Order: sequence, then structure tokens, then C-alpha cells
Amino acid sequence: MITAADEDFLRRAIDIAAHAITLGDAPYGSLLVGPDGAILAEAHNTVRRDNDISAHPELKLARWAARELDHDTAVRTTMYTSCQPCSMCSGGTVRSGLGRVVYALSTEQLIELNPDSGAWPAVAQDGPALFDVARAPIDDYYRR
Ligand SMILES: [Zn+2]
Repeated sequence: MITAADEDFLRRAIDIAAHAITLGDAPYGSLLVGPDGAILAEAHNTVRRDNDISAHPELKLARWAARELDHDTAVRTTMYTSCQPCSMCSGGTVRSGLGRVVYALSTEQLIELNPDSGAWPAVAQDGPALFDVARAPIDDYYRR
């Protein structure tokens, strides 16, 4: 359920996205709101500027949260973002320990507005293979 307070923070994420355009960056913005309702960090997409495919605001904030927040705070922190996190950012968000994500545009809505946003081909993955060899560093590390 999205509350009126959630919508206020989503409007902030959309403002960040709009401001990114004035900086020459792509129109995606996000922020983290802590358990007490305070804004902890904000970010926008800097993929072009940084020449870094991982410079999505959601992943930047997930990394920030994992680095700066203890588990109890992270799980009670919400990420607000102008668009639904992509698969890369969703994975990072899971690893970050953040407790909730609230987004404005869904991926489907974004693709409807800009079809290029959904033009990512699937990458073939082959495996598993070499189990007995590949397990050695895993065993060495986790069974020390
Ligand atoms: Zn992303």
C-alpha cells in the first residue's frame, strides 16, 4: 500500500530525476528514507557521465546502505525511486538489506514511454559444470 507520505517521497524522487536532466544525465532519481522519516541519501543516474553501466541511483543507494547502515536500520529504511528498479538494482537492493522499495513508474510503463528502455537482450548462461573442481575454493573458504 502506498500512503500519502510515500507519494511525497516519490515526488522527491521524480524531482531528482527531473533535475538530473539539467545536469546532462538520464532522468532517474532515488532516495533513502530512514526509520524516523528523515532523508538519508539521494542519487540520480550518472551512467553517461561516469561511463559506468552500474551508475543507476538505486544501486548507488543500495551500496551506500550496505556500507553505512547497520542491519536494524537498513531493514527499516525505504528506497523511493522514480522508476521500478531494474534487475541489476533489484539484486543489489536485496543484498543491501533494505526493507522496502517504493517506485513511481513500473518497468512496463517506462518501456511504453521509451521503448529503448526495454531493449536489453537476454544473455545465454551455460552451467553448471566442473562441480568437483569448482567446489574446492568454496570448501576452503567456508570450512576454515
Ligand atoms: Zn537499475
